[in-house]
Amino acid sequence: MKQGEKNKQMNVQKSCKQCGICCTKGGAALHIADRVLLQEGKIPRSDCITLRKGEFAWSPVNDMVEAIQSDIVKLRGTGGEWVCCYFDVLAKNCGIYKNRPVACRTLQCWQPEKSLAMIGKDLLSRQAIVQDEKFLLELIEKYERDLPLPDFSSLLSDLKQNPEETIRILEELMNQDLNFRNKQVQLSAKVAAEEMFLFGRPLFQLLQPFGLSVYQRGNRLCLKLI
Ligand code: SF4
Ligand code: SF4
Repeated sequence: MKQGEKNKQMNVQKSCKQCGICCTKGGAALHIADRVLLQEGKIPRSDCITLRKGEFAWSPVNDMVEAIQSDIVKLRGTGGEWVCCYFDVLAKNCGIYKNRPVACRTLQCWQPEKSLAMIGKDLLSRQAIVQDEKFLLELIEKYERDLPLPDFSSLLSDLKQNPEETIRILEELMNQDLNFRNKQVQLSAKVAAEEMFLFGRPLFQLLQPFGLSVYQRGNRLCLKLI
């Protein structure tokens, strides 16, 4: 839609039409004010996913895909997509309407200023959510210390300049990442249920948008340029 038409539509709209489109564009980011929803079990951690600092994600502020500046804990999507897990697509209902996160309460698509002003501010971190659970807190810290994300901002140029070495390094990181997760998931059912919240998406899933496809050789994951 052209900007002029968008403005015209926004000028006409005065309230929520309950179309649910906003619920299909990526689960809401959680803010500090939402912590109580997790503490009271209104939103289980198994319904959350962490985008780690440095991952590439669409920025509504800059209207482009770019590396995020800090971790973002979000409601997970469904079916491998970014339709919020609480959104009933047929009924166009929110399954946790009374307990929906503050980002959902704030959103008014016809006048988005308040929502835009919230982006990147007062975000709820994984560490704050598990702060009273020493085992999980230490596990997150170990994961970030031992398996930090590669620098995605230079990945395309690294692949262009030195593809074989870059792929070799990424394959090593990708398999270390997977081995760590598999081990922790086998040790704890709680970690298994909350894997995406605790560690975010596995590295092999994050590499595919950079023109890399993943395949298996024996018990190792390998990469090739598409
Ligand atoms: S805020 Fe906008 S996009 Fe979301 S349900 Fe209401 S009208 Fe639809
Ligand atoms: S929590 Fe509810 S309002 Fe918020 S994105 Fe999900 S379905 Fe929509």
